[in-house]
Amino acid sequence: MMIKVIISGFKGRMGSTAVDMVNNDPELELAALIDPYTTEKEVDGIPVFNDKADVLGVAADVWVDFTIPDVAYANTKFAIEHNICPVVGTTGFTEAQISELIDLSQSKKIGGLIAPNFAIGAILVMEFAQKAAQYFPDVEIIELHHDKKKDAPSGTAVKTAELIKETRTYKKQGAADEVETLPGARGAEFDGMRIHSVRLPGLVAHQEVIFGANGEGLTLRHDSYDRVSFMGGVNLGIKKVVNLDTLVYGLEHLL
Ligand code: NAP
Repeated sequence: MMIKVIISGFKGRMGSTAVDMVNNDPELELAALIDPYTTEKEVDGIPVFNDKADVLGVAADVWVDFTIPDVAYANTKFAIEHNICPVVGTTGFTEAQISELIDLSQSKKIGGLIAPNFAIGAILVMEFAQKAAQYFPDVEIIELHHDKKKDAPSGTAVKTAELIKETRTYKKQGAADEVETLPGARGAEFDGMRIHSVRLPGLVAHQEVIFGANGEGLTLRHDSYDRVSFMGGVNLGIKKVVNLDTLVYGLEHLL
């Protein structure tokens, strides 16, 4: 049976790449496309809507969301409430929003996925970082993205820090009497470690996790050079969520 997919944010960088991915998979079928400002009514026979409420008459199994942090929570909630499984790549969710959406999905018995990163290499960096943090409590995360990215730090950096926190012995890093002569110079603080966000044209999505210890260092780095790197994970998410009865946070739960 074909899985019918709605793509919200279909005109964006990630959304348009997801449209191509769905069109190239014979097991998937586009059901509707959403963009708030477009005047198009259809694209290649697929209905286009400006508002999420307009898709209610459309038969759909999965809601793929690559929009903006401001609307992604409401979109995900809307999808679950209407028995459509969300596969969400949009970043910027708070911990409270994620746990609220997980609770809602469980009460409705609807599968779903919120993944701050759909690239397999990025998932592996997070896993390796969590292991390394057992031995190296001194760590800084540097995430690097294109300069159109709206939120900072990246969802991947936050998720990496959360995973590290589970294995790392708490430590407030840096000198006790450290002073920032320019505010923000030491980056954002998360559980005593630091996260730095770089924004430059030409970049796509990159992350380094740097560990330091006496006389040695360990650097883990992942690079997404092209948005196509995320599509294997989105495809896998679409195919798995339809058989789940809860929303999960992180692609690693489906691998
Ligand atoms: P983008 O190119 O700016 O695309 C976002 C699209 O959403 C834009 O076309 C925007 O339209 C549209 N939009 C705004 N409000 C909307 C609404 N209410 N309903 C539907 N569409 C709406 O950004 P992007 O680079 O594709 O990234 C999208 C999101 O994915 C970001 O949060 C980014 O951090 C995340 N991301 C995740 C992964 C991952 O692996 N999980 C990878 C890369 C990026 P306008 O431009 O007209 O406002």
